[in-house]
Amino acid sequence: MIAKVKHIVDNNKITSILPTQRYVDPKYVYIATNNARCDKSELYIKEGDHVNCFQVIGMRYAKNFVQPIHATVSGTFVGLEKHYHRNGKLIDFIKIENDFKDTFDSSVKERSKEEIEKLTKDDMTNIIKDCALVGLGGSSFPTYIKFQTKEKINVILINAIECEPYITSDQRIMMESPHRIIQGIQYALQAFDCHQAYICIKSKYKQIKQVYDLLLKPYPEIKIKTVGNFYPQGWEKAMIKSALNIELNENELPMQKGIMNFNVSTIVGLYKAIKYNIPVVKRNITVTGEGIMYPKNFRVRVGTPVKELIELCGGYSHPELNKVIILGGPMMGASLPSDDCIITKTVTSVIVLNDHQYKEEPCIRCGSCVMSCPTHLQPVMIMNAVKAKDKERIKTLNPLRCIECGLCTYSCTSKIHVLDYVRKAKIFAKL
Ligand code: SF4
Ligand code: SF4
Repeated sequence: MIAKVKHIVDNNKITSILPTQRYVDPKYVYIATNNARCDKSELYIKEGDHVNCFQVIGMRYAKNFVQPIHATVSGTFVGLEKHYHRNGKLIDFIKIENDFKDTFDSSVKERSKEEIEKLTKDDMTNIIKDCALVGLGGSSFPTYIKFQTKEKINVILINAIECEPYITSDQRIMMESPHRIIQGIQYALQAFDCHQAYICIKSKYKQIKQVYDLLLKPYPEIKIKTVGNFYPQGWEKAMIKSALNIELNENELPMQKGIMNFNVSTIVGLYKAIKYNIPVVKRNITVTGEGIMYPKNFRVRVGTPVKELIELCGGYSHPELNKVIILGGPMMGASLPSDDCIITKTVTSVIVLNDHQYKEEPCIRCGSCVMSCPTHLQPVMIMNAVKAKDKERIKTLNPLRCIECGLCTYSCTSKIHVLDYVRKAKIFAKL
């Protein structure tokens, strides 16, 4: 049984009714040299070099895979500059001065319908590997690795639930890019020789359902599935339970049950990679929160400075108050020490909150964090074990099962950042 937290509702999703504003020509873009999955990189360009949009300008290295780094505009490589990454670290970014010509790399090519129909799963895997497609809902997991599964896939789920408060960029993509989504799903169905896909949305998105019910009539293999309006319904296990009534065991992967799931933005990225052979150089994001004057949805270049987007939103509201800057959703995103941060491929949103400086109180053992945990952990016990530095106790409490949904912190009566302790426990448990 999955815990339902019904009090986290969509009353903060005010940007859902606003059309997406394009801001795709910043003067400079900044491309991360590394990220949460790749801690080393190599550059293929030197200062002063001209680069084309979509050009491979370097390589990131993780333990088990490599990831090409692509230029997201055409222009000149100025040098490396330090800014905050979504993972909270101050890292080197590749600064490119935009020449506003959008000169494409020679690797860009449009594939015809006939060419695409001949592509095998291995062909598509190689294309998305070269395009460095990753989970754009925030997971950043390389999509080509999911494509390499040997399991028989019977159903594909598209996650357009966007269950965290505030964020509405996926809702806008659903409204504004149905053709790309439907085409991308068809490519995924072709790759896995699968004949059934569901686009999962919240049941309250009645208009989206009505529109897609009509648009999907010529595509009987794709249907809309509505799920509950509560958090964390977008968590893959919760989505699979709601959409297919299949419960996964603790260590079971969806593909072991014949299920493959993708975020809706990833499916749009898949469409572009297969159709045009291009990596993700633009993405949709929401900039919102009580600390923002006029919240908006944007389509931006990957590499755009967050400060520029905040200015386009009219700046900060209540400038006299300190701000909390979160990249990603308010429940699972990372809060950064500064607004000197950059939109990377996997940033779904920028949330700015006024810092009310809640004071932590001692734990009153109310059990609220335990009741809220969707993975049935005991966050308060984990916290106590971390405080006691009791590694053996920490391991018995299974902190690695934590999906970092943030509900324990959100529900804590004493305003304790319980998740911070669980994150520490996860590090201890891996030692
Ligand atoms: S953040 Fe982790 S421990 Fe806290 S409620 Fe979510 S899954 Fe449970
Ligand atoms: S919710 Fe907070 S106060 Fe209540 S038991 Fe958990 S840590 Fe303690």
